[in-house]
Amino acid sequence: MKITFAGAAKTVTGSKHIVQLWDNTKVMLDCGMYQGMGKDTHTLNSEEFEEPLSVSAILLSHAHIDHSGLIPKFVKDGFEGKIFCTEATHALCEIMLRDSAFIQEADVRYSNKRHQRSENDAYDPLYSFLDVEQALQQFVIVKENEPISIAAGIKATFIPNGHILGSAAIYLDIDEISEKHTLLYTADIGRYNATLMRNPELPPQADYVICESTYGDRLHDNTIDAEQGLLNAVLHTLQEKKGKLIIPAFSLGRTQELVFALNKLDLYGLLPDVKIFVDSPLAIDATDIMRRYSHLLNREVSRFKKGTRHDPFGFRKLIYVKEQKYSRRINTLDEPCIVISASGMADAGRVKHHIYHALEQAKNTILFVGYAEPNSLAGRLQRGDKMVTIFGDDRNVEAEINYIKSLSAHADYNEIMRYLSNNNSGKVKRLFLVHGEEEVAQKFKGLLKENGYNNVVIPDKNMTFET
Ligand SMILES: [Zn+2]
Repeated sequence: MKITFAGAAKTVTGSKHIVQLWDNTKVMLDCGMYQGMGKDTHTLNSEEFEEPLSVSAILLSHAHIDHSGLIPKFVKDGFEGKIFCTEATHALCEIMLRDSAFIQEADVRYSNKRHQRSENDAYDPLYSFLDVEQALQQFVIVKENEPISIAAGIKATFIPNGHILGSAAIYLDIDEISEKHTLLYTADIGRYNATLMRNPELPPQADYVICESTYGDRLHDNTIDAEQGLLNAVLHTLQEKKGKLIIPAFSLGRTQELVFALNKLDLYGLLPDVKIFVDSPLAIDATDIMRRYSHLLNREVSRFKKGTRHDPFGFRKLIYVKEQKYSRRINTLDEPCIVISASGMADAGRVKHHIYHALEQAKNTILFVGYAEPNSLAGRLQRGDKMVTIFGDDRNVEAEINYIKSLSAHADYNEIMRYLSNNNSGKVKRLFLVHGEEEVAQKFKGLLKENGYNNVVIPDKNMTFET
């Protein structure tokens, strides 16, 4: 067996790993897009990383674009195999991938215009709506925890891992005539006692592990502290400063967590009487899917639904904004309010406009609630830059920049260790750390060593490991 790390190697985005058997059968674990890498993003996503016709199947862990976003491009380039994932992941991919095609067409048009590229030099979008529709035809839904045959010699089991709705680790049983291997791909591991998601299910012992390491150097606060942090930011910004609270958030997952947390705070009478806008068409669609699959969410959500408020994602003060003209009106609205808008790294989407308008007034607060690539707008603001360029204009940073770290959808290092606790570290032949910045992965490698993992590898991009 060979494993090639074609993405998310010493980076957090662009997840794609290729498993190859002795007879050249290849399957790909995720097919994700790079995000938030500045000027390099387009080039990285345009690179050919594998001959599409040589791959038998894609096994998709979850719907986040940094894991699913290049599937339509791979299909456009000739991939004809099946794409295996859970039912909820499929439902979310329908909206996420269509949205991705839309964003790329708009971004490329803007970028070509801005850099005055001639027709010959103009960038093409990575894929179109039609490529997305074709890709969606190739999806096959699998049931959680039921092994399914993917190709000759490969069985896969999707084990829910609590990261987002539908997300799963992928466990492979590989039979190569003379050798048998098991391989665990953790994908993105969720947190324990999270706001909406159930705890990750512990995967069984594996010979080889491909493990994420986003927060391999960090311990999160618990979820209760996150809700307290959110309430503090709301009261401080809206009541004391009479300003706006802008929260950049991923449309899928983080937005619904925030809405549910605010819903609970409001139920307890703790929120001031202000408007709360969720300004993201994608978040509206994602919320509908969360409602449809709410039976997959945790016990707190089902308890809440049995109480006086039946909808975790809707209450009187909350306004979902679909149309752009209403989004623009929020920019000029002169009253304290909360705006939750995408994207989480603030590099694209409507939140960029909200930040542009709010940034030069000290009464406003920009509250970050998730991971940000260091070079993204969110990364630069969190680093403490006093001036940032948005839409080509320099903007002074007068607004307060704040951060809640515990709302992450990723396990911290203790939670990853807990997640791996069914594995006897001495029996794991190799553990590969992916999906983390190199420095973080190095620290996590040290910790894994203390726990008996003596064969930890942090692969470079395109490195191939052979058993
Ligand atoms: Zn993810």
